Amino acid sequence: MTTTAQPITAVPANPLADAHAQLASAIELLGYDDGMFSLLAQPRREVTVAVPLRRDDGRIEVLVGHRVQHNLSRGPAKGGLRFSPDVSLDEVRALAMWMTWKCALLDVPYGGAKGGVRIDPALYSESELERVTRRYTSEISPLIGPERDIPAPDVGTDERTMAWLMDTYSLQHGHTVLGVTTGKPLSLGGSRGRATATSRGVVHVALAALRECGIDPAGATAVVQGFGKVGRHAARFLAEAGLRVLAVSDQYGAVGAEPGLDVAALEAHVDAHGTVVGFPGGEELDRDAVLERSADLLVPAAVEGTIHAGNADRVRARVVVEGANGPTTREADGILEARGVLVVPDILANAGGVIVSYFEWVQANQAYWWSTEDVEARLEERMLQAWHHVRDHSRRLGVPLRTAATALAVERVAQAHQQRGLYP
Ligand code: NAD
Repeated sequence: MTTTAQPITAVPANPLADAHAQLASAIELLGYDDGMFSLLAQPRREVTVAVPLRRDDGRIEVLVGHRVQHNLSRGPAKGGLRFSPDVSLDEVRALAMWMTWKCALLDVPYGGAKGGVRIDPALYSESELERVTRRYTSEISPLIGPERDIPAPDVGTDERTMAWLMDTYSLQHGHTVLGVTTGKPLSLGGSRGRATATSRGVVHVALAALRECGIDPAGATAVVQGFGKVGRHAARFLAEAGLRVLAVSDQYGAVGAEPGLDVAALEAHVDAHGTVVGFPGGEELDRDAVLERSADLLVPAAVEGTIHAGNADRVRARVVVEGANGPTTREADGILEARGVLVVPDILANAGGVIVSYFEWVQANQAYWWSTEDVEARLEERMLQAWHHVRDHSRRLGVPLRTAATALAVERVAQAHQQRGLYP
């Protein structure tokens, strides 16, 4: 790494307040009562664990981890595991709730969950991260399992993390349990197409949304915020679809090129240097100014709350497709809507990851693996089906895509509760 890390981002005061407000709008639209709001606002289970770590130099540090299962009414809980210094219980609660809506909207048979450890992974060695993952897994292991709760990679974690998690859980159970996590390496029961699934899904929906606005994707322009697991592949697929990617950013800075960035060359630079900063094929830009760059499409693919009341009126894209979870605060949502910007919400836009996670879990449980073509065709079909469903619902009700998507999802979860009944 050649640059000094800036703080990861200005995380909004409380993404949970935004998630609750979105739920409240859906409850009102659907005509449910306060009891249903309370049932769906409150996580079913949550655990906070101490994660003691022996550093490589022998010092002991104690980190904090969480796992929140927001809802289990439609199947086992599903959701990523985040390693970030910004992790808080309220953030994990919000992300778990959004996972419930995402799984319901895409009609995969899961509830929603999320986990996190408050740690900056850039400051720890690989073997320290392995020890953190194994101890965290051990602490939450009574809660997880292929029929209980299935973690996956998120910010700051990857397929290596999932391999350690699967191994730790399997050792505790005395046999290999591939279905306890998704996003694993291919050689350990991962699915073809999983590593790029979220980004593929983002791009399927982005192209549909551009066409919806009368913009031909071939020759359109795009900006991508965040160049991690979601952002980098999204930028590449957008370029492959004929868009000019004018600028991209990561937590350290941003680069841009008016004719469009050479995304493959940029990826090679990031693999070598750990950041987009210093890429010779573009000019250096202010990190947060990329959001205000004039382009047809903006894909925020970093963290929550990067589009907020303080900058939403300067976002110049026609279409915003939320690769990240919760990148647009509630106030910013209102500002963008008033300005006629089409916002494709996270629970739809970035659902490709959970769709292929579902495919991975199905394959692991059957011990039978599909081809890349199979995975990608089924992914595209489900993403476009969901896009049309949400768009039609939004037109029918005259509400923004986010309200329509949340209402569709909340209705499915509420129905599952009503059909199962309240015990005792
Ligand atoms: P990641 O850790 O691989 O990448 C995050 C990227 O964002 C990095 O490039 C980081 O430098 C950058 N970043 C952080 N703060 C930034 C800022 N303020 N400005 C610009 N860049 C910034 O994480 P990821 O898996 O790509 O996840 C990104 C987002 O997508 C998160 O909101 C995550 O919850 C969501 N998401 C991920 C998946 C998945 O499959 N990985 C699926 C659905 C949603």
